Amino acid sequence: MLKGKNAVVTGSTSGIGLAYARALAAEGVNVTLNGFGDAAAIEKERAGIESEFGVKAIYSGADLTKGSECAALVKFAEDTLGSVDILINNAGVQHVSPIEEFPDDKWDLIIALNLSAAFHAIKAAVPGMKARKWGRIINTASAHALVASPFKSAYVSAKHGIAGLTKTVALETATFGITCNAICPGYVWTPLVEKQIPDTAKARGMTEEQVKRDVLLAAQPTKEFVTVEEVAALAVFLASDAARSITGSLQQIDGGWVAE
Ligand code: NAD
Repeated sequence: MLKGKNAVVTGSTSGIGLAYARALAAEGVNVTLNGFGDAAAIEKERAGIESEFGVKAIYSGADLTKGSECAALVKFAEDTLGSVDILINNAGVQHVSPIEEFPDDKWDLIIALNLSAAFHAIKAAVPGMKARKWGRIINTASAHALVASPFKSAYVSAKHGIAGLTKTVALETATFGITCNAICPGYVWTPLVEKQIPDTAKARGMTEEQVKRDVLLAAQPTKEFVTVEEVAALAVFLASDAARSITGSLQQIDGGWVAE
């Protein structure tokens, strides 16, 4: 039973993170939202989650590129809700560039947000989870935690790093009722992906359908996007008591991408 548990979902003002928060709230979990965006839109989403699902929803605009703000986010949730039982490390950004031109500041940003932020948040949340003998840590990795693509050196490195962090934390917490797993999505239909399509179509002289099929989904055997709801349903399962023996795993949800 997840009802009454408390969760932190990083990067939950949009896309996959918002779907995690809504799916957990639908199970009766109080949620801490985090991320950037329009203040009024975030407040509308926060209040909407409270009224739709009858849970508490709080928000922190912590910038998770800073380790101290990751720890402060966990403390804010513990102080306000009473505990952090479920931690989902999800905030992430991408930059695409050949290695010899890859900007140093983009490398630092991606490693800080997509990898180090998870370390800092886990470090802050584990003592409370150990004390209560229950915890669920879920890291949004990627198919890029398992395979590489060219021009994504920082992202692929960070996501492979998250895979190692996930396994290590799983081993250290295994006897405390805590699990730590990573979700490895292929291409997911989020605003981020959706926004790329018209520009790519123009640049390549393709229709939007051709861009989806021949560019974005070329790697995905189903030739369909994964939906945010599907990814969120997997997280809800990993958070459930039925998944208590699943730890240290990398869960592919990629339409068959890494099977090829
Ligand atoms: P998105 O852009 O919709 O969401 C990213 C979230 O991170 C937003 O809420 C944003 O405000 C937040 N964020 C950005 N910088 C931040 C910072 N410094 N501090 C705190 N929050 C910050 O993207 P998404 O597609 O939902 O991606 C979410 C996660 O899923 C990422 O880790 C991404 O790597 C991963 N992922 C996405 C896909 C995909 O196809 N969309 C595939 C595999 C993995």
